[in-house]
Amino acid sequence: MSWIPSCSDVARAVSDDSYNESSPSRRVMLRLHMAVCWFCRRYAAQIRWIDRAARETWGVPAPGDADLKRRLIARLRS
Ligand SMILES: [Zn+2]
Repeated sequence: MSWIPSCSDVARAVSDDSYNESSPSRRVMLRLHMAVCWFCRRYAAQIRWIDRAARETWGVPAPGDADLKRRLIARLRS
């Protein structure tokens, strides 16, 4: 894996919450990528929207269910 994360690296980090467990230098690279990549910024915003909607609907944060989040996003896009 190169030191610059790809769009799929960013999407994975954002959707499975591994972003929060990444090293500080890795987080900087992910943020840099998002600063220049409209797609990843939009994707991260959708993830945050789903987390907030889940909290408001069920009163709990969306469990770390990356698969569920991915399916929801896939549905939003279709
Ligand atoms: Zn990207």
